[in-house]
Amino acid sequence: MGSVIERIKRGHFWTFHGGIHPPQQKFLTTDKPIRAVSIPEQLILPLQQHIGIPADLLVNVGDKVSKGQALTQSSHPMAVPIHAPTSGTISAIKNSVIAHPSGLSELCLFIIPDGEDKWKQRHICTDFNKLTPNELIEKISSAGISGMGGAGFPTQIKVSTREKIQFLIINASECEPYITADDLLIREHSPSILDGINILDNILSPTRILIGIEDNKPQAIKVLQQATAKNDKIQVCVLPTKYPTGGEKQLIQVLTGQEVPSGVLPSSLGIVMQNIATCFAIADAVINDIPLIKRVVTVSGQALKKPQNVWSLLGTPVGFLLNQCGYNNKSKKHIIMGGPMMGYSLPTDQVPVVKTTNCILAPSEKEISTPYSTGTGEVECIRCGQCSDVCPSQLLPQELQWSAKAKDQQQLDKLNLFDCIECGACAYVCPSQIPLVHYYRVAKSEIRQQKQLDIKAEHAKIRFEARKERLARDKIAREEKHKAAAAARKARMNSGTAEAKTEKSAVAAALARVKAKKAQQIQPADKSVSKTDSSPEITEQKSQVAAAIARAKAKKLAAQKPQAVDDGAIEAQEPSVIVDQKSQVAEAIARAKAKKLAAQQNPSVEVPAPTSNVSESIKAADNKKAKIAAAVAKAKAKKLADKANNEAVSINESVNDQVIEPSSTIKKSEDDKKIKIAAAVAKAKAKKLAAKKATLDAATNNDIANKPPKSEST
Ligand code: SF4
Ligand code: SF4
Repeated sequence: MGSVIERIKRGHFWTFHGGIHPPQQKFLTTDKPIRAVSIPEQLILPLQQHIGIPADLLVNVGDKVSKGQALTQSSHPMAVPIHAPTSGTISAIKNSVIAHPSGLSELCLFIIPDGEDKWKQRHICTDFNKLTPNELIEKISSAGISGMGGAGFPTQIKVSTREKIQFLIINASECEPYITADDLLIREHSPSILDGINILDNILSPTRILIGIEDNKPQAIKVLQQATAKNDKIQVCVLPTKYPTGGEKQLIQVLTGQEVPSGVLPSSLGIVMQNIATCFAIADAVINDIPLIKRVVTVSGQALKKPQNVWSLLGTPVGFLLNQCGYNNKSKKHIIMGGPMMGYSLPTDQVPVVKTTNCILAPSEKEISTPYSTGTGEVECIRCGQCSDVCPSQLLPQELQWSAKAKDQQQLDKLNLFDCIECGACAYVCPSQIPLVHYYRVAKSEIRQQKQLDIKAEHAKIRFEARKERLARDKIAREEKHKAAAAARKARMNSGTAEAKTEKSAVAAALARVKAKKAQQIQPADKSVSKTDSSPEITEQKSQVAAAIARAKAKKLAAQKPQAVDDGAIEAQEPSVIVDQKSQVAEAIARAKAKKLAAQQNPSVEVPAPTSNVSESIKAADNKKAKIAAAVAKAKAKKLADKANNEAVSINESVNDQVIEPSSTIKKSEDDKKIKIAAAVAKAKAKKLAAKKATLDAATNNDIANKPPKSEST
């Protein structure tokens, strides 16, 4: 290590593989001071402006905010808060196109400035040396500072490392063409930058502090050397201009000779790197209590009348800055965020400036063309290998491109796609004009998305397994608890003490109560049980119900009796008489049944023999029926005889009036015979009917005598 430091002190640095030397074009802005621009009519602030996750919103639409007020907040280390760049009103919270190669929309806060530019209450720190490293880190974290060189990694994480730090490297190389923001910042604000470097020194306590700067910034080099002249720990390292010296791994290699392996953080090698603009922001946050709400942006390109470095509020639309610098290209064809090598075209000039925006480029048509520009666009790879020759990460750009097109993620992993720093050197030299970096960005985005999905699925699986285990554990614990309680109860009850006996009897009583309750609940539902129930209360109730039904029946039958009987019309009288008798019989039967039922339900009650009144009534009814039948038969016979006589008289009269025929006498005697036969038949019928009635009634008597009483349900 001693020899390395000696070599660094002597200014003998290392180099990295590949690299290119594109035209610098820095002269457009390097001789003009940083200009302050007016506040735009609207500011658009994406919630996420860094590598990590967005913080949680603290404001709502319609809220008035002060300059520097926190708009989001989170305790997550990968979440960086954002702050109001000026005072005003939150006009909307919605998705809007953000500064990203994907051109996708993300959640943004819209602020309408009130023009007052009124600050929140601030606390100025007069001596940051009195603050502990943790207090300093806390201030950096709450100020929402993330790397301002382009990547946007949360600064609080970088400075919170527990590794022993050998080298703190301040990146002032600004290797990309056109960009002069850091150059001007150094020249105009070196004291603040030095404060920022000292704050980092207090936090990390490195062995050496190296400021890496390319030799194309002579004024800035001079300023830095003067500012650090009294501090032996800090060394300004002037490096030869070569793109991309400003890459983290490349600058570490150039300054220390150490190669950072793939997938390894520089901090594990004892190295931390910070951008020079980040140092300025750290000083502003710790000393002046100013969060990261503005930055220097190089607005350059030959399409502008007044290209210049400007102090831009975060959230300022790109179109506003371009107009401030005399942009007159109405078609707005080529607006690039970032430099010509690592930047990306914007879909609209309403994309806002964010924490990582160091340059807005508006090149002319002439500037945008490459040495190989033929106007035909991308053609097939000719396997010239120039891309591999210039790749600073020593990758195989042409193979990466094929795998990216084939979406072969395994192969892309093998080719170390994520070691690509998207410097664009390969695309710059490609004679086939293949937009190689574009393919790498799309492939990286797809892989990240897939990884996110995999992580989510893995987390869901872990949660599911954990829940299953917890439920199983709870079940076992519950069973064991019940077992232990049962064993303890058993042991207590078998102990033979007075308390155990009391407990036993209490348990038995409780069981009996439960059984009785169960039986009560089951009883009403079981009809068969209610039929055979012999409890005195239920029996009494049943007999009362049966008697009531019988009375109702009898009453109904009585109501059906005819009110008057015509003595002269035997055929008409007969049914009513029979009905009357039947109703009497039914009444008698019903009464008998009710009595019998009552007797069965309550044996103590004496029931008279069912034969007495009932049989007498039935006999009387039978006699009457027989008599009625005989009377009907007689009436019929008489009617037939009268008819025959009348016919005979009429015949005689007709005989007297006419000539007597010898056959008429014979006919009369035949008619007499017929009448007599009819009378005899009628008599026989009447007799037969009477006999049939008698038989039927006898059977009814027997039936009544033998039939059991009907149940309630019938
Ligand atoms: S530089 Fe272009 S053409 Fe040449 S090998 Fe690479 S990708 Fe193919
Ligand atoms: S963009 Fe990637 S692949 Fe191309 S030269 Fe740069 S690091 Fe290499």
